[in-house]
Order: sequence, then structure tokens, then C-alpha cells
Amino acid sequence: MRFYRSHRQPISGTHRLAVELVFGILSGVLQVAGYLYYANKARKRELEPNSTSWIMWGYGTSLLLVIELDSGATAAMLILPTACALSSIAVGFICWQHNTLRWPKETWERTSLYTDLMLTAMYAGTWVLLGTSLLSDTQKEAADIAILVLVNLSTFVTFIPMLINTWREPRNENPWPWTVWTAAYLALGLTTVSSPEWKWYLLMYPVECMLLHAAVAWISRRHVLADAQRIEVQQPMKRVIAGPSRINGRGVFAGEDINAGERIRHVEGTIISHINTSKEESLSNPDWIGIGHNRWIDPAGTFKFLNHSCGPNVGAVTIAADTMVIIAMKDIEKGDELTLDYSTTECDPHWEMACTCGSVRCRKIVRSIFTLPIEQYEGYLPYVPKYFQAVYERENANKRIDGSVTPPLCEERKAGASTPRSSG
Ligand SMILES: [Zn+2]
Repeated sequence: MRFYRSHRQPISGTHRLAVELVFGILSGVLQVAGYLYYANKARKRELEPNSTSWIMWGYGTSLLLVIELDSGATAAMLILPTACALSSIAVGFICWQHNTLRWPKETWERTSLYTDLMLTAMYAGTWVLLGTSLLSDTQKEAADIAILVLVNLSTFVTFIPMLINTWREPRNENPWPWTVWTAAYLALGLTTVSSPEWKWYLLMYPVECMLLHAAVAWISRRHVLADAQRIEVQQPMKRVIAGPSRINGRGVFAGEDINAGERIRHVEGTIISHINTSKEESLSNPDWIGIGHNRWIDPAGTFKFLNHSCGPNVGAVTIAADTMVIIAMKDIEKGDELTLDYSTTECDPHWEMACTCGSVRCRKIVRSIFTLPIEQYEGYLPYVPKYFQAVYERENANKRIDGSVTPPLCEERKAGASTPRSSG
């Protein structure tokens, strides 16, 4: 290192400008990349950001941008705050479509809004005083630096609700954009120190924002890690592979030998709460797997391709609210197709499906759980989700009383719909 230093050429002014510009552009690109990722997640409703916070953040950054410009920040140093102000206002408006823009309720939010408005008034005041010659140029400069310090303090205050909310609801935030933004502020810090015009007060903003963004990334990341650990404890991850199926289209195949009773995998995906009101609706989402009262999982992974069979080798159980695990009901050899009896996870009276599974027990037309022949149902136990077991037991009790099948009340169904039994 000493050797390197002693031979290093002094960096010329032009070089420094080039380095400053490269870091400045990098900071802007990273900033926008973080926002694009964030806005896309918010648009898909995978994140529920607070629109009020984002618009306030955009306002605070715009104020800072103007004062930094006035305090001698170079163009390279202003790329990031410009990108940040425009993007956060855009994100605020995207989120506004999902949750209403409200007047800040929480003390921290209000404090930060009032502080920003007060600082805007103070800054406007310095121009008025300069115009009326009550303030000299040097005094105006000193006032700008003082306001810049206060704006940075206000940025910290603005961040407090974000830190609190992320701590309370870590799933509302995703660590990746925050990590990218941390890198963007690091690049801005490097832009600032590589500039020949750098001043200590221009370094406050990148350093502070880098630490604050890193804190949000760390808080939300901690929970992602905790979730992954929790799932791993519950999930003995058997290998499953999607591939072409003889039953229908693509199917799920065992990637290793699995013993009867072993947990194969969690069904991961989006939880859907929905009331089907017509047969068309009931048939429109064949991939959904029922988990409870008007609740389904729309599988995100391989289980999207899990085919039905009237002689299945896997069952589904719910081990916690909205948490479903696929379990082997028989010994399964590597390469075997995994099949589930769809009737065990469905109680929508509108739902039915023609079946050509080829099993000796094929029911030809497959309908909801209450249509399962009792011996077939009992053969599946305990690998039927608790909710559907309850529906089946209730219908059996009804059958025992009056000898007929009463339609289950597992959804808000239209009165009078018939519930034909399959031939079994
Ligand atoms: Zn069948």
C-alpha cells in the first residue's frame, strides 16, 4: 500500500471532474433502479407502501435539492436528489390508487411535514431579506447552510415513521430496493468527495441517507431471513420437478424417493379470498387449491402443475392459517407423478370437472368434497385439510339424519342449486 501511494500520480482537476461525473451518474442510475423495482412491486400489490410518506419524502427532497443547488452543489451531486424527488412523488401517486392519501395522523409524520413547511418558509424568507438588502451575501450563505442542516435533521425525522412501520410490519417492505438505494447514496458520497468543490455540509445528505436506507434494508432483511428459517424448520423440502404429464399438460414429479406420510413441500403462492357466484367463475381458476372458507392458494411454484387423480398419491393438509403442506399418502418413487384428489380441497357446489385419470376408482366427473364416496374419503384421512373434513363430516351427519345430501354451507351459494353425487 505504501509502495502504491508513493508512486501514485496526483489526480488532475479534469480527472476529478470525470470521476465525480461517473459517480454522480451511477448514483442517479442506482436511485432510479431502486424506484423502478419498488414501483413495480407496489403496482403488483406485493408491497403496501404509505402514499403520504412517499409524497412527503418527495417534497422534503425537492426542498433539499433547491437549497443544495443554492449552496454550491455541482450538477453531478444533484442527479440523485433530482431522480429521488421525481421518483418518490411518482411512487406516492402510484400507491395513492391503492390506499387513500390522508393527512398525516402520526406525531412523527406531522412533525416532519410541519418542519418541512417551516423550513420552506425560512428559505423563502432568506431570499426576501436578501432582496431587501437586510441580509448580506455572506449572511445568506450562512443562513442557507443552517437551513440545510435543519433540512437534514428533518429528513431524519421523516424517516422515523418509516423505521417504526418497517419494524412493526416488515413484510410491507422489501430489502432489495433499500439495498440498491444505500448503494446509490454511497455513490453520491463518493461523487461529493471527488468533487473539487466539496464542502462538509454537502456530505450530510448522502451519509445520513446511506445509514437510514441501510437500516430499513437491514430491518426488512432480518425478517426475510427469519421467515426463511421458519419455513425451513417446517419444510423438509423434498425435491419436486415439473414436467410433461400423461394425465394432462404438465405435472409435478418426485425428484427423489418419498415415504408415505412424509411432508413434501409447502404450497407457496398468493392467498385468494373470493366468493364464486357462478359455475363459470368456479371453473375459471383450475390451479387454485382450496384451503378454507372461500379461501384458496394460487400456487406460485411447481404445484401450479399438480394434477388430479381419483387414485392420488399425495394429500394436502393445512398446518396453520393459510399454510398448506403436500404430504405423501403412499410410498412414491423418484420420477412418479404426484397427484392430488382435487375433491379433497374443494367445497364449491358449482365446481365440477370431467376426469380421465385412468385410475380404477375414477369417478369420471369430479365434484366437491361432499360428493366423495365415504370409503374413498376415509381412505384419504388424515390427509384432508381440516376445514374440508369439517364440511364432509357435517354433510355425512345430515345424510345420516334424513338419508339425503344437503348442500354444504361452505360459501354464499344460490339457494336451490342441485348437488348431484358422482357415481364413484
Ligand atoms: Zn378420475
